[in-house]
Amino acid sequence: MDSSEFRRRGKEMVDYIADYLEGIEKRTVYPDVEPGYLRSLIPTAAPQEPETYEDIIRDIEKIIMPGVTHWHSPYFFAYFPTASSYPAMIADMLCGAIGCVGFSWAASPACTELETVMMDWLGKMLELPEAFLAGRAGEGGGVIQGSASEATLVALLAARTKVIRQLQAASPELTQAAIMEKLVAYTSDQAHSSVERAGLIGGIKIKAIPSDDNFSMRASALQEALEEDKAAGLIPFFVVVTLGTTSCCSFDNLLEVGPICNQEGVWLHIDAAYAGSAFICPEFRHLLNGVEFADSFNFNPHKWLLVNFDCSAMWVKQRNDLTGAFKMDPVYLKHSHQDSGELKQAAQGSFSSVLCWQC
Ligand SMILES: *Cc1c(COP(=O)(O)O)cnc(C)c1O
Repeated sequence: MDSSEFRRRGKEMVDYIADYLEGIEKRTVYPDVEPGYLRSLIPTAAPQEPETYEDIIRDIEKIIMPGVTHWHSPYFFAYFPTASSYPAMIADMLCGAIGCVGFSWAASPACTELETVMMDWLGKMLELPEAFLAGRAGEGGGVIQGSASEATLVALLAARTKVIRQLQAASPELTQAAIMEKLVAYTSDQAHSSVERAGLIGGIKIKAIPSDDNFSMRASALQEALEEDKAAGLIPFFVVVTLGTTSCCSFDNLLEVGPICNQEGVWLHIDAAYAGSAFICPEFRHLLNGVEFADSFNFNPHKWLLVNFDCSAMWVKQRNDLTGAFKMDPVYLKHSHQDSGELKQAAQGSFSSVLCWQC
C-alpha cells in the first residue's frame, strides 16, 4: 500500500467505522457462535499469494463481525462499560503513525512530557492532593499503565522493595527470602481478582478481609487481621482499598482504613478502576475523601472516560519508590537527560524487573 492508496483506504475505513457505530444497535450484542468458529472459516496457514484488499475487507463482515461482542451497543450490559470515542480513535491513528516507543525521555521527549503533564491535568480534575502531582518540582506524579491489574502489581512490587530495603537497612543479615516469607498484604473479600493475582505474581500472601453488611472493608476487621499477623511474627506491608468494587460498586471505608495504614507504616494502594472517573464530578468527589492517606491511586479512563483501551492512570506520592524499585541502567538507554521521565521509564520496565527478581 503506497501513500495514495492509504489516503483512499483510510477514508473508506473511517466511513466503515462511522457506519458501524451509527448502526450498532441493529447488531446482535452477543455473537451466536460456538468456540472455535473462526478456524474453519479461514485457511490453516498464511496464503502464499496475496489476497486483494477488497477480499480482506469483505471478511470483516463475513468472518469477524459475527464473532464480535458489541461492547458499545446500547444493549450491552455485561462486565463494565468500556470507553470509546471518535477523538480517541483519531488519536490512535496518529499514535500508530508516529509509532514511538517511550521507554525513556530521549526515546521520544514529547511522549514522556505529554504523559506527565496530562496526568497532572487529570489529577487536578480529580482534586488529588498536590503530593500526587509532578508539577515542576514535585516528588509525586502519574504514569499510564495498561490496566488496573498492572497498576496494582506495580504498586505491590514497589511496596515490597521498599519494605525489604527498610528492614535490611536495620538488620543487614536479613535475606530477601527471609523477609519475603513473612510479608502479608490485605484487601477486602470484595476486591477484584487482580489483587490476588498480583500477590501470586509477586510471591506475596494476600489476606482477604471480611467486608461488612454493605460489602465495605472496615477498620476493625483490618485491625484485627493486622494484630493477629503481627503477633504471629508476620510483616504487614501493603493494603489495597477498593473504591467501587467490580461486583456491586461498594466502597471500602477509606477514611477509617487510611489512618490505620499510615500508623502501621504499610503502603496503601487505592483501586478505583471502574468508579474513579466519577470523582471528577463535584457531587461525587467526596467518595474519594481519604485519598490523602494513600501512597498510590489508580483508575481506568478506558472504562468511563471516553479513552479507548488501554489507559489506566496511576499516581504515586513518592515517585522514588517506583523508580528506585525498578531502575535499570543498561548502557544502550543512557542519555544526557537521564532524570527526565524516570517514572515512565521505571514503570514500563517493571515487568522485566519482575522476571529479573527471580533470577
Ligand atoms: C475492572 C476492574 C479492575 C481490572 O481492570 P483492568 O484494567 O482490566 O485490569 C480492577 N479493579 C476494579 C475495581 C475493576 O472494576
